[in-house]
Amino acid sequence: HAKARGKGRVHTYDPSMRAAIMRRRQIEADFPAALVRGEIRPYYQPQIEMQTGRTTGIEALARWHHADLGWISPAEFIPIAEASGRIIEVGRTVLESACRDAVRLGDGLAVSVNLSVAQLVREDMVETVRAVLSETGLAATRLKLEVTESVVMTDTERAVSALRRLREIGVSIALDDFGTGYSALSYLRKFEWDELKIDRSFVKSLDTDLHSLSIIEAIVSLARQLRIAVLVEGVETQEQFTLLSKAGCRTAQGFLFSRAVSVEELPELMKRCLEDAPNWRRGEALPA
Ligand code: C2E
Ligand code: MG
Ligand code: MG
Ligand code: MG
Repeated sequence: HAKARGKGRVHTYDPSMRAAIMRRRQIEADFPAALVRGEIRPYYQPQIEMQTGRTTGIEALARWHHADLGWISPAEFIPIAEASGRIIEVGRTVLESACRDAVRLGDGLAVSVNLSVAQLVREDMVETVRAVLSETGLAATRLKLEVTESVVMTDTERAVSALRRLREIGVSIALDDFGTGYSALSYLRKFEWDELKIDRSFVKSLDTDLHSLSIIEAIVSLARQLRIAVLVEGVETQEQFTLLSKAGCRTAQGFLFSRAVSVEELPELMKRCLEDAPNWRRGEALPA
């Protein structure tokens, strides 16, 4: 094993490690061309009102179909974009496309866009958002920006000040992956969040860990008192839907409703969600 031989030094002649490094280099080098060719664009996952199946908003999730490598997950390319500084261009492209698509979809649909810390703390962040809104014609009130705790943690003063200015122009702000960080509760006081997104790890452990349900109930009640909307992420099964609904959750995202789809597929999908709503709610009729 290379590591054992080299006292912790990395030897690039380990074939699988070498391949991983080459892949990373290629991804890093290919951002400019991918952006020019439009290979990176958002897909959209609907945010569902659980009672009715109505789509209240959509989350833009970056997708890259690479000419040689095929589909690359954002879990892989976003960190590479962040490390190499390309996230500014990638993030702006996603933001622009998301705003344009939201205008095209009409119907007052809100669109959520994920932000990286490098984007948020840039001097011209608010100006960029303002410019994109005016170029695309999207009302600021229909744009929601999602940040994680780690984004706020990195440079709290600057991040919070940028978030305030964004909120002043009418944009909503969501705290993403809530509950996974170190000091989740302290970040609730630092800013007037519009929405908390409960991380899917809580949902995932609902079947095996009784505490998860109590934690979700507590977050829902806390958020209600603070007048922050709650959305629960990663709902995959009907059983989870029933438990979450009983815990007071009203809005959800997850594979039970839909994966992220292209903007072209979205209208059909939203229709299907309305039709499917009675099926998800079947479980609620059963005795506890
Ligand atoms: P996120 O913002 O927390 O997005 C939710 C992720 O969970 C998405 O993964 C989504 O496809 C996935 N997901 C949704 N429902 C379910 C479910 O029921 N089960 C499971 N197992 N997963 C579900 P995705 O699209 O791979 O994105 C991963 C992360 O990459 C996002 O997490 C976000 O942090 C980041 N990301 C994606 N697009 C962008 C972007 O344009 N800019 C930035 N800065 N980050 C982005
Ligand atoms: Mg998100
Ligand atoms: Mg999330
Ligand atoms: Mg996440």
